[in-house]
Amino acid sequence: MRVSLLDVYVAGDNRDYNGGYGTTFSVGSSFRARLLEVARKKGEYFPLLTYGYLAAILKENGHDVTLDINRIRADADLVILQASLIRHNEEFQYLKRIRSETNARICLVGPLASTTPDAFRTCVDTIVSGDPEGPFLQLRRLEDLPLGVIASSRVDDLDDLPFPDWGVYEYKTFSQSPIFKRKPTAFIQGSRSCPYLCNYCPYIAIKKSYRIRRVGKVLEELKQLSAHYGVRAVMFRDPVFSLNRKWVIELCESIKKSSLDLELGCETRADRLDEELIDRMYEAGFRAIKIGIESTNYDALRAHKRSPPAIGHQEKIVSYCESKGIRIVAFFILGLPEDTPATVRQTIRYSHHLNPSLANFTICTPIPGTEFYEEVKDRIFNHNYNDYDNFNPVFHLDHLTSEQLKKYQEEALVSFYFRFGFLKKYLRSAIWQRS
Ligand code: SF4
Repeated sequence: MRVSLLDVYVAGDNRDYNGGYGTTFSVGSSFRARLLEVARKKGEYFPLLTYGYLAAILKENGHDVTLDINRIRADADLVILQASLIRHNEEFQYLKRIRSETNARICLVGPLASTTPDAFRTCVDTIVSGDPEGPFLQLRRLEDLPLGVIASSRVDDLDDLPFPDWGVYEYKTFSQSPIFKRKPTAFIQGSRSCPYLCNYCPYIAIKKSYRIRRVGKVLEELKQLSAHYGVRAVMFRDPVFSLNRKWVIELCESIKKSSLDLELGCETRADRLDEELIDRMYEAGFRAIKIGIESTNYDALRAHKRSPPAIGHQEKIVSYCESKGIRIVAFFILGLPEDTPATVRQTIRYSHHLNPSLANFTICTPIPGTEFYEEVKDRIFNHNYNDYDNFNPVFHLDHLTSEQLKKYQEEALVSFYFRFGFLKKYLRSAIWQRS
């Protein structure tokens, strides 16, 4: 069968972020905001991990698979789309065109289709709810793909999955600059889901249990990425990479013993790191760690089931990593329902005080399928999914207007990056890189 993996893409989109719902980067209209947008769009290009896995499974089963970016494959027998929030309108137009211009069957996968299947029923044949790979692992003949919404059998053992096939992408263009210094970059998953319960989190919108791969298989995949694809940097796409300390230590030891020379990165929580673990990660090649700081408004975080780490520990971890040469990328959320102008300003000031290498400030967004969405759905005034990109307010707050919030977001990003503390760190790192 001829299978098309459809990717509706606009420069600057990151459809794998935000648990697979996607994000963009749209800071504002000022000159400095525009500069930041250009830098980000130039530096990052990400694939969809799901498409890497599906390409591998489908090719192994003898199908002819292509990735079609903003293009309809006229001779496709099956079109698969990971539906996103951020390109919802454009994707709908594509689905309608595929229906009217081709004979292809249409199958949707991913968290948005899983959590809001009713939004798509009229224009697709199959919706896979849950792990996207489940049905394709079991089916030899794609003609037998059931119609309607099908519950994916869970991929209990992640090592049952083949390694993602990046050959369908222009993989040499994958990059995560300036998070990584080296290119090309690749992406890998050591675990799926997260046992924490932050109720706004897109990673747990589809309720799945935490699963982790065997260290040996992860190492084997890293070796394949290096040898076969020539990658020099690899970002782990686990929601909380260092959840299992013993696993991280074992993985780092295995990497050290191998001949791999990769720049590595991951995302985790500050309270899942300590100095000894960081030392081991550094020795294995970790040079970037993304951490969700979220907000200094701890009461608001707790109200949404986020258990924040002790401030002292968080600051110690950030400063320790930075002093070792591990770049911290800190994530902040502005506009939690309990936020006020004062708490938002305090979070912005705290980002300067923490002074990580990089930071992002997103607007709190109710992601369909999350408990948070249900909590605030009566306050939602904007139902256009394209705007659910973390850069547009979509629900009413008690203490901040949408205009204020958008202005604070632009101020947060601009003041963070056009600041002496940031520029000093950035220049030092650039000089260190050249020497
Ligand atoms: S710890 Fe991170 S990944 Fe886990 S639920 Fe909270 S925000 Fe989501």
